[in-house]
Amino acid sequence: MNLTELSNKQKEQMTRKNCLPKDKIEVTLHLVEEIGEVCEAIRENQSKEDFENEIADVLWQLNKLCWMNNINLEEVFLRKLEKNEHRE
Ligand SMILES: [Mg+2]
Repeated sequence: MNLTELSNKQKEQMTRKNCLPKDKIEVTLHLVEEIGEVCEAIRENQSKEDFENEIADVLWQLNKLCWMNNINLEEVFLRKLEKNEHRE
């Protein structure tokens, strides 16, 4: 499954559960919050499973932010990868 497919699955689930994001600022704050939880997992030496869950939470929020700004994360990431390839 690629990033776009994952994002679409998330959107399908959130649509079904009637919890699609409405506020970009709220989503941005959640993203930062989740990054903080990744830091906490590292600092507190939490289990690999807890760390993985926190990493997934970051992508969850990032996907939401991308939808709200009409960004296809997979395309943008591939573009970045290509750009970095030619960087010194
Ligand atoms: Mg979390």
